[in-house]
Amino acid sequence: MKAICIRCWNPDAVVNMDLDGTCQFECRECGECFDRDEVRAALDAMRKGWAKLLAWADAYPQEEEEPAAA
Ligand SMILES: [Zn+2]
Repeated sequence: MKAICIRCWNPDAVVNMDLDGTCQFECRECGECFDRDEVRAALDAMRKGWAKLLAWADAYPQEEEEPAAA
Protein backbone atom coordinates (compact mmCIF):
# COMPACT_ATOMS: atom_id res chain seq x y z
CA MET A 1 0.00 0.00 0.00
CA LYS A 2 1.43 3.33 -0.98
CA ALA A 3 1.42 6.49 1.07
CA ILE A 4 -1.82 8.42 0.88
CA CYS A 5 -2.01 12.19 1.07
CA ILE A 6 -3.13 13.32 4.54
CA ARG A 7 -4.86 16.35 3.05
CA CYS A 8 -7.10 15.00 0.32
CA TRP A 9 -6.92 11.25 1.17
CA ASN A 10 -7.12 10.51 -2.51
CA PRO A 11 -5.80 6.98 -2.96
CA ASP A 12 -4.80 7.81 -6.52
CA ALA A 13 -2.87 10.92 -5.59
CA VAL A 14 0.88 10.79 -5.97
CA VAL A 15 2.84 12.09 -2.99
CA ASN A 16 6.34 13.26 -3.76
CA MET A 17 9.19 13.66 -1.35
CA ASP A 18 10.44 17.17 -1.82
CA LEU A 19 13.90 17.42 -0.39
CA ASP A 20 14.75 20.76 -1.96
CA GLY A 21 11.73 22.77 -0.94
CA THR A 22 10.52 23.91 2.41
CA CYS A 23 8.00 21.10 2.69
CA GLN A 24 8.93 17.49 3.04
CA PHE A 25 6.13 15.83 1.14
CA GLU A 26 4.02 17.31 -1.60
CA CYS A 27 0.82 15.91 -3.03
CA ARG A 28 0.55 16.15 -6.79
CA GLU A 29 -3.22 15.95 -6.57
CA CYS A 30 -4.14 18.76 -4.19
CA GLY A 31 -0.82 20.60 -4.13
CA GLU A 32 -0.66 20.57 -0.35
CA CYS A 33 2.62 19.97 1.39
CA PHE A 34 3.29 18.59 4.82
CA ASP A 35 6.07 17.17 6.95
CA ARG A 36 6.62 14.02 8.94
CA ASP A 37 5.10 15.39 12.14
CA GLU A 38 1.94 16.36 10.30
CA VAL A 39 1.68 12.89 8.78
CA ARG A 40 2.10 11.29 12.20
CA ALA A 41 -0.46 13.62 13.78
CA ALA A 42 -2.97 12.95 11.00
CA LEU A 43 -2.51 9.17 11.24
CA ASP A 44 -2.76 9.25 15.02
CA ALA A 45 -5.96 11.26 14.85
CA MET A 46 -7.41 8.84 12.32
CA ARG A 47 -6.42 5.85 14.45
CA LYS A 48 -8.04 7.38 17.52
CA GLY A 49 -11.18 8.16 15.59
CA TRP A 50 -11.41 4.60 14.33
CA ALA A 51 -10.53 3.10 17.73
CA LYS A 52 -13.77 4.37 19.23
CA LEU A 53 -15.85 3.09 16.36
CA LEU A 54 -14.10 -0.29 16.30
CA ALA A 55 -14.43 -0.72 20.06
CA TRP A 56 -18.11 0.09 19.79
CA ALA A 57 -18.55 -2.35 16.91
CA ASP A 58 -16.69 -5.07 18.83
CA ALA A 59 -18.92 -4.56 21.86
CA TYR A 60 -22.08 -4.51 19.81
CA PRO A 61 -24.10 -7.68 20.36
CA GLN A 62 -23.61 -10.01 17.44
CA GLU A 63 -26.34 -12.16 16.03
CA GLU A 64 -25.83 -15.86 16.39
CA GLU A 65 -24.11 -17.20 13.29
CA GLU A 66 -26.17 -20.35 13.40
CA PRO A 67 -29.53 -19.67 14.99
CA ALA A 68 -30.59 -22.46 17.28
CA ALA A 69 -33.32 -24.52 15.72
CA ALA A 70 -36.17 -24.54 18.15
ZN1 LIG B 1 -3.50 15.54 -1.61
